[in-house]
Amino acid sequence: MSAPPKPEILLTKEEIEKQVARLAQEISRDYQGKYPLLLGILKGSFVFMADIIRLLEIPVEIDFVRLSSYGSSRVTSAKIKVVQGLHTPVKGRDVLVIEDIVDTGLTVGYFLDYLRKKRASSLKLCTLFNKPSRRIIPVPIDYLGLTIPNRFVVGYGLDYNERFRNLPDLYFVDGCS
Ligand code: 5GP
Repeated sequence: MSAPPKPEILLTKEEIEKQVARLAQEISRDYQGKYPLLLGILKGSFVFMADIIRLLEIPVEIDFVRLSSYGSSRVTSAKIKVVQGLHTPVKGRDVLVIEDIVDTGLTVGYFLDYLRKKRASSLKLCTLFNKPSRRIIPVPIDYLGLTIPNRFVVGYGLDYNERFRNLPDLYFVDGCS
């Protein structure tokens, strides 16, 4: 097996923490008096979810879904499906989707459509990173951490062939976008 590409730093953990804290403040303010259901998209959002929920000043319920998107390759498939489903009823709930990164928009766009049919009371999207230059379908982002260049990033939950999710900072790896 060939050696994985060497990652180069794009954002430090301190810079990421700052954005996560700001997003937690905005969400806490907007959902004051409510009990939202936070839905994380696996696997990439698990680190972001773990960090943001501990900074929220409101009670929340969390659940995760797993959607097929990149698999172990680097090209987004136009066909997205729910691989590991939702266990919490969403009807009548204030649902906030927690995503690591929106790239083409296919993954989260599909999931938002899927959720709309389930008659949530409200439906919003929070993503830590955004790569708008690669967007294929428009996605309404309610809470955004940072817009980043069109480069393939790893770390802070994001992988390259399942590696690097455990890195606390965000790195880019050349030749993978
Ligand atoms: P989209 O469907 O918007 O193209 O892609 C969304 C999913 O693809 C993300 O949830 C993430 O899992 C993966 N993805 C998109 N861009 C990147 C990237 O730069 N690095 C990594 N590791 N995953 C990405």
